[in-house]
Amino acid sequence: MPQPADEAEARVLAVRASHALAAAGQGDMVWGHVAVRDPGGRGIWIKAPGWGLEEVREDRLQLVSPRAEVLAGEGAPHKECHIHLAVLAARPDLACSVHTHAPAAVAFAALDVPLLPLSHEGALFGGADVPRFRRTGGLVSTPALGEELAAVLGEAPAALLPKHGLVAAGTGVPAAVMHAVLLERACRTQLAAASAGPVRVFSDAAEAAAKRAECWPESQLEAGWQYLVRRAARAASGAPRPPADL
Ligand SMILES: [Zn+2]
Repeated sequence: MPQPADEAEARVLAVRASHALAAAGQGDMVWGHVAVRDPGGRGIWIKAPGWGLEEVREDRLQLVSPRAEVLAGEGAPHKECHIHLAVLAARPDLACSVHTHAPAAVAFAALDVPLLPLSHEGALFGGADVPRFRRTGGLVSTPALGEELAAVLGEAPAALLPKHGLVAAGTGVPAAVMHAVLLERACRTQLAAASAGPVRVFSDAAEAAAKRAECWPESQLEAGWQYLVRRAARAASGAPRPPADL
């Protein structure tokens, strides 16, 4: 997936990504955010504090430097901007990172059991467990904590922050958003199964790896992203919404 070509595209994508995450149910009032790398190398485009994901507009964005200085936009930066600054600094191939407090991810992480490939979404990690940042359940509010989190994430599409939320990343904005959405859905599905009885049926390592390649190529991530963008637009227009269980 291409990275944003210029500032204008990065700003548009930062707004769309925020709306897509809200449409997928990852909002937590005014907390949680998505960051798009500035193509000019000046830092990240991220919403200003005080706005919900669905409320983000281009004039509610900030350009935050690698040193957490606000170069454009209103107010102070989010305290947890260090998540994005560190993740994107550690992986120059990434265009976008996501941090939300998705409820199913928090609930699932509290069980401290492996994430199993018992659904398509659960195969996102190819049969491996999802990485977990265990250093703190508090805010990732310093460069050092951000760097520790980036190391935990490594090359994975996403990671859990037990007692807190999730982080996701992608070489394109659609992939980063979809990785967050898929992790939350995988957590929710396993929670539902585990609440009803022992989890007995899930993919073995070979099937999980095959499903990751089959179910989640860039084209499928892009298709899911486009759906979320349309769903967000319908919600903003007041059109009837599907059940809020995506
Ligand atoms: Zn947080």
